[in-house]
Parts: sequence; structure tokens; C-alpha cells
Amino acid sequence: MAELLTLELEHKAAAVRDLLTTAVREHGRVVYANSLGVEAMVLTDIIWTHVPEIDIFTIDTGRLHEETYALLNRLQHRYGRRIKVVYPDAEELGRLVTSQGVNAFFESVEARLACCRVRKIEPFRRAIAGYKAWVTGVRREQSPVRAQGQPVEWDEQHGLYKISPLLDWTEQDVWHYVRARKLPYNPLHDRGFPSIGCAPCTRAIEPGESPRAGRWWWEQSESRECGLHPRVRRPAANAVSRA
Ligand code: SF4
Repeated sequence: MAELLTLELEHKAAAVRDLLTTAVREHGRVVYANSLGVEAMVLTDIIWTHVPEIDIFTIDTGRLHEETYALLNRLQHRYGRRIKVVYPDAEELGRLVTSQGVNAFFESVEARLACCRVRKIEPFRRAIAGYKAWVTGVRREQSPVRAQGQPVEWDEQHGLYKISPLLDWTEQDVWHYVRARKLPYNPLHDRGFPSIGCAPCTRAIEPGESPRAGRWWWEQSESRECGLHPRVRRPAANAVSRA
């Protein structure tokens, strides 16, 4: 039987809607970088149901799990809408793979960051060009780096506002919302993957491990971000109001 949203979660969802609506009113062009993780199911539902002016894109790095592609299809089918899919530049990718090999990310942090730059960062930069704010589904609980975030920040690196409406949601909140709304989600979550990225760089975690422990698990924890969420960023002084 479907769960009902608790009053607290209804308030949290309403705060997300308010934050996103205000972002559109204040910035006009707002885009959501959809990771297709479980948080993305919540944000896609809220955006397509309540704030459809926000554009949505996702990045196909070329190394995603088959389950992730299937989820993209299910998600689009449920809402009868399309998510823009952004790809790495073919020539740049060709040069990278030719020079460092197809799986060089296992060999050094530098090679891994080079792969993330070509397959994720550069497509991301192309996708956000012309927008005034971008939306992300990061939560404080996920890592010490993300714990330092603010719901609205000036993203110095990319030159636009960054809106994180789920920052204070717990993992339990996210799953409660997904079940109550009967949203689709990636079946890999049921197999121990709290965070899902590229197939070769993501593994299931053990009980008690950090939610991000399955990402680039062979590296030291401090290096485990792809570059989209740098450590220090000043809060927005004149940005949209906070949820
Ligand atoms: S997560 Fe792995 S495969 Fe995906 S872009 Fe980064 S290094 Fe490359």
C-alpha cells in the first residue's frame, strides 16, 4: 500500500516548490542538471508537476549502467515529457581515449579527473550556457563537502547561481517521497548503490559506509567529487530566498 506524505515532508516539498518558483521569478532561465539518482526522481516530479518552466538535462557520459538508461525511458514515459540528453564532444573524447586508454581512471586521480572533465564537466558547461541558475539534488548528508553547501549560492566556478533544494532532506525523506508518489527509480538502489554514476566507477557499499563510498572507491575520500561541486563557495547575498 502506498505511504502518505507526513505533514513535515509535505512542508519540505512545499519549500522546494517555493524555492524553485522564486528562482524562476528572479532569474528567468533556470536549468536542472538531472543525475537520474533517487533525489532526481523527487526533483523531476516537483519540477514537471509544479515548476515546468525549469528546463531539465542529463549527461550521458557513455559509461552509464543499462539500468540508468532504462530509468530515463521510464521517467520520460511517466510524465510524457523529454529530458535533454547532453553528450561529450566526440573529438575531445576520441583524443582522450586515444592518449590515455579507455579505463585510465583506475590508474591515477589525474587520469580520472581528465575523464570526468571530458565526459561530464565539459558537457555540463555546454548545457548550462545561457542560464542564470542551475538546480542540483545534492544533500548535506552525502559528504562533508556537500554538508558545507547553502540552498542558494553563487557558483563562482560556472558563473551562475546554484540552487540545492534538497540540501536538508534526509535519505529517509527522499525514499518516503518516492514511495508515496510511486515514482520510478533505479533498481541499482535496491542492490546497495546509494549513489549511481558511471558503471566502472560506482560500486555497492557495505553497511555503515558513507553514501559516497561507492564512487571512485579506489581513491582517497577527499578526492571523490567530479568537479561540479567544489568545496568552498560563498553564499549568495542577493539571490532568491532560502527554503
Ligand atoms: S565517473 Fe568514471 S567513467 Fe565517468 S566520467 Fe568520471 S572517470 Fe570517466
